[in-house]
Amino acid sequence: MGFAFDLTLPLLPSPIGEVRSPGFILVLYEYLFLIFSEDTFMKSRRFIFLLAVFGAYLISLVNPFSASSAGLSDAAIEKKADSLVALMTIQEKAGQMTMARKNQLTDAQLGSMAIGSVFNGGSDPEGNNTPSAWSASIDRYQKAVLVSRLKIPMLYGQDCVHGVGSVAGCTVFPHNIGIGCSHDTALAAKIGRITAQEAVGVGIRLNFSPCVASVRNERWGRSYEGFGETPEINSLMGAAYVRGLQGGGDMSQPWSVASSVKHYLGDGSTTGGVNNGTSSISEATMRAVHLPQYAACAKEKMATVMPSYHTWVHNGSWKQSVDAVAMTTILKGEIGFDGFCVSDWDALPQACGSSITDYSSSCVAQSINAGMDMAMVVGTASINQYIQAITSQAGNAIPLTRINDAVKRILRIKLRMNLFTNNLSSSDYRDKINNAEHRLAAREAVRKSLVLLKNEGNALPLLKTEKVVVVGAWANNMGYQCGGWTIDWQGVSTNPKAATIAGQTILAGLQEVGGSTNVTYDASGSNLSSANKIVLVVGENPYAEGSGDVSSGPDFSTCPEANLVSKCFSSGKPVILVMITGRPMILDTELPSCKAVVAAWLPGSEGGGIADVLYNNYDFTGTLTHTWPASAGQVPINTGTVYGDEPKGSGGTPQYAYGFGLKYGASFSARPGSAADFGATKIVVANIDGMIRLTGIPLGSSWKTLVMDMAGRTVLSVNGVSRKQGSVSAVSTRGLRSGVYITSVTAEGKNIRTVMAIADNR
Ligand code: BGC
Repeated sequence: MGFAFDLTLPLLPSPIGEVRSPGFILVLYEYLFLIFSEDTFMKSRRFIFLLAVFGAYLISLVNPFSASSAGLSDAAIEKKADSLVALMTIQEKAGQMTMARKNQLTDAQLGSMAIGSVFNGGSDPEGNNTPSAWSASIDRYQKAVLVSRLKIPMLYGQDCVHGVGSVAGCTVFPHNIGIGCSHDTALAAKIGRITAQEAVGVGIRLNFSPCVASVRNERWGRSYEGFGETPEINSLMGAAYVRGLQGGGDMSQPWSVASSVKHYLGDGSTTGGVNNGTSSISEATMRAVHLPQYAACAKEKMATVMPSYHTWVHNGSWKQSVDAVAMTTILKGEIGFDGFCVSDWDALPQACGSSITDYSSSCVAQSINAGMDMAMVVGTASINQYIQAITSQAGNAIPLTRINDAVKRILRIKLRMNLFTNNLSSSDYRDKINNAEHRLAAREAVRKSLVLLKNEGNALPLLKTEKVVVVGAWANNMGYQCGGWTIDWQGVSTNPKAATIAGQTILAGLQEVGGSTNVTYDASGSNLSSANKIVLVVGENPYAEGSGDVSSGPDFSTCPEANLVSKCFSSGKPVILVMITGRPMILDTELPSCKAVVAAWLPGSEGGGIADVLYNNYDFTGTLTHTWPASAGQVPINTGTVYGDEPKGSGGTPQYAYGFGLKYGASFSARPGSAADFGATKIVVANIDGMIRLTGIPLGSSWKTLVMDMAGRTVLSVNGVSRKQGSVSAVSTRGLRSGVYITSVTAEGKNIRTVMAIADNR
C-alpha cells in the first residue's frame, strides 16, 4: 500500500489496529536512550527523530491513504472519502467516474487517467481463458492504475450472473429463474459467496449481478436472469445473494465482491417483453411491482445499481440512464441508496438517442445530473470524449457538488471493500475454483431448482432396476445446459468452447446415479425398444439479451428438437420430458405425450443434480416463480394483484399456477407388491394405507426402520429381528400423513442397500 506509514507507535491507538514490533522496538530504544543518555548532542538528535515519528503518526491518522479500512466505522469511511475527494483534481474525478472496457487504454493511460474501473463484456476472454490468464491480466490493470498519483485502486467488473461464467473452469450455477424456484435464501447466499470467492480468485471485484427483474412477460429473452415474476421472490432471493456476494454482510472481507443490482427500474415491465423496450405503467404500479427488490437489496448495502436501457413513460419518456426521478428522487432519496449508479454498456449515448459511441457534452451532463455516478464506456474515443465532457463542464453544466457526490459514492464502496489494501487477485481462492465444495453447492442448487409439473402412472421416480434410454442432444452438451452468459455472451454449444466448461452433463449424471448399464444414450431416439422408460431432454438454444426475445408464444414446439416428443411417444414407452429452457413455454401439444414433465431451467455445470431427483435420492422441492401460460393468448399472465395498467393477455386458468410444483411425497404412491432399489437414501411411502414388508435382510439380523416426514422429523421408528432369511416383519404405515418416507433401514447396525418389497394389506 502506497502512502501508509510502516512505523506504528506503541502505547497509542493505532489507526489500523496493528502494532508492528520492529517499529515498537526501535521507538522504545530511542525513548530509553533519550531518558538515560548523558550525550546532549545525541539526545537532541534522537529527540528530533522521535518528534518526526510522532508527527508521522499524527499525519497517518488523518491521511486518507492510510493502509487499511478494515473494521473502520462508517464515520471513518466517510471522513476518508471526503479527504480523498478534497485532494483530487477534476481530471482524477472524471477518471474515477469512468469504467473503461479492457484493452481500450494502455497501461500507462490507465495510470495517468486514474481510471476508476475496468470491465469486460461477455465475450472478451483473456488469453487461453484460464483463471490464471485472467488473474494475470486483471492484476496488471490494477497495478497500472495504482501508478496514479493518488493510488486509488480500480474495481474490475464482469457479468458473473450464474457463477463466473466467462472464465473457463469456474463453477456455473443455475440461472436465477431456477434459483428462484428453490425459494431457498440460504442457497442464494451460498451461491453469492462461492461466486465471489471464485471471482476474487481471478481479480474480479464488481459483479454485474443480481438481475432482480420482476419478469412480467416470458417473451423477454432475459426472463431467466430474474428470480421470478413477483417483487417478493426477487426481494428475498436478490437480497440474500447480495449478502452472500458482498462478504456475507461484511464488505471488508478479502473475498467480498460488489454487487450491481440491475436493471433499474422495471426492466421486466416492457410492453411485449421487448428487450430495452418501453414500459408505460404508472408510477404506482412501477413502485408496487418493480421497486421493492431494490429497497430489500439496499438493506443489504448493495454496492452499485445498474440503470436499465429501457424507456419508462412517466411525465415524459425516460431512458433509465437519464431518469432523475428514478435514480435520484426514488433510489438515492427515498430508498437511501448510498452506493453508486453504474451505467449499462454505452448506455449514455443510447439514452440520449445519439450515435451509440457519441458521448456528447449535453448527454453526459444530462445523465450525471440525473444521478449517474459512473459510466460503462466501451471504445477509446468514447472514453476520452466522456472524460472531456466531465472536465469541461464541471462547475457549469454539471455542478461540482454532483461530481463530488458521485466520486465520494465510488470511494465509499472501495473503502468499505478495503480495496486500498486488498486489491489483487487471490491465489488461495484461485486454487479453490470449482473445488468439491463448490461443485456440491451447484449440484444442490440444481436439485432445488427443479419443478415437477406432471407425473402420471409413477413414471417418476426412476428405479435403478429399470432400463432408461436418454434421448436428445440437450442431455449431452455442457453449453446447452448452461445457456447464455457462459464462456461467451450468447453462450456456447459447440466444441472446443463448450468443452471448456467444467462439470457434468445431464447424461453423465444419470449414468452416475442410475448406473451406465441401465442408463444408455440414444441421441435421436431411433432405438427405443429396450427401454422401460425414456428420459427425453429438450431445450432452447442458448441466448442472451435481445436475441432471446420472441414475438409470440413462447412455444415449446419452437425448440430445435421438440419433434422428439412425438417420436418418443410413438415408441409406446413412458416419456419423461426434462425441459432445458430459460422460461415457461407453452406445452399444449407436448403435454399429452409425456407421462412426466420436469422444468429444469438452465441448470449450469452440475447436470448430476437432475439425476439425484429423478432417481429420488432427493425429493422435488422446487415450485414455480412464474405463472405458466396454457396458451399464447394468455401471455402476459401473472399472479397476485392485478394492476389495471399492466399489459395482460386473455386471462383464464393457466397451465400451472405460480407456486405449483409436485413432490413424490404427494404424488407417488408406492405400488403394492412392487420392488424398489433401496440404494437410494429415501423411498417415499406416502399414501400407503397398509404395510411395508422389508426383504433382503439376513436371518437373525436385528433391523431398524426409520420413517420420516419431509421436514426430517421421525414419525416412526421400528426395531426387530429378522425371523426368516431375507425378510422381516412388516412395518405398518397406517395413519401416517402423506409425504413420509423411509430414510434408512439398518441390519446389525449396517445400512441395508437392497431390494425392498412394499406390500399393501388393504
Ligand atoms: C447488459 C448488462 C451487462 C452489460 C455488460 C449489457 O448489454 O444489458 O446486463 O451487465 O452488458 O456486459
